[in-house]
Amino acid sequence: MKKLILAIILLVIIISLLLWGNHHITGTRSQVTPPDETASAGSDNGTNSGHPNLPLIDPDADDDEAVDDGKAIYLTFDDGPSSVSGEILDILKEYKVKATFFMLEPHMKKYPEMLKRMVKEGHGVGMHGVTHDKNKFYHSEQTALDEMIKGQSALESITGVKTELIRTPYGSIPYLLDSYRKVLNEQGFKLWDWNVDSSDWALSSHKYINVTIKQIKHIEQSGTTPIVLLHDQAVTAQYLHELLDYLKANGYTPKKIRQDTKPYSFTCYDRCRHVKE
Ligand SMILES: [Zn+2]
Repeated sequence: MKKLILAIILLVIIISLLLWGNHHITGTRSQVTPPDETASAGSDNGTNSGHPNLPLIDPDADDDEAVDDGKAIYLTFDDGPSSVSGEILDILKEYKVKATFFMLEPHMKKYPEMLKRMVKEGHGVGMHGVTHDKNKFYHSEQTALDEMIKGQSALESITGVKTELIRTPYGSIPYLLDSYRKVLNEQGFKLWDWNVDSSDWALSSHKYINVTIKQIKHIEQSGTTPIVLLHDQAVTAQYLHELLDYLKANGYTPKKIRQDTKPYSFTCYDRCRHVKE
């Protein structure tokens, strides 16, 4: 009987040792990274815990930049989403082009389905703050930063997209002082102004089309990619197809602003005159 018990104990010990050995070997193997993965792991700054969070949606997943199909132009729509976002999206879809929307946090919450559709259809999305009130937004570095962070988290919670693209209310000059830029920069935000002002908001009529085309022609001469300021509003949607017809006929392909597109912001010499007003 004693021999039997001893034999069982011995067997248990042997099995345990074998199992431990297997785990040990497996564990060692899992730490070996194939050579081609070492480079990417290195750029991770060692933060790979082995249990990464659920992946966020990559806003640049549909790589439309990969297709070289004519002159690029960035159409940007501010202040949305709105009740006409769907109309704008329908037109963009019809022309098979992409745009970028810089949106206000309360409007994102009011039209979450529009936000989801923008992302689903491959458009660029970014923040435009919360209040759109120059006294509140530009009150301090902190208020500007807080508004953008609030917009960023609303956008992320609705769509799963974390974007760093921002456009400050009324553009960066004259209100966005260097100290503000520094704070936004440190947070990783990428500031985008424009170089074509459609004046769609001020003109509030069909006239904005000709004003825009005239500036695009001018910008083209300098070899710069046009970045067009438009607004997510009814009158803009109403005549948008005319602008898209012009762009198509003139070899332009409207594309979205990507996270890695080099940002453009105003330089003093083309905006400083506004400071005097
Ligand atoms: Zn605005």
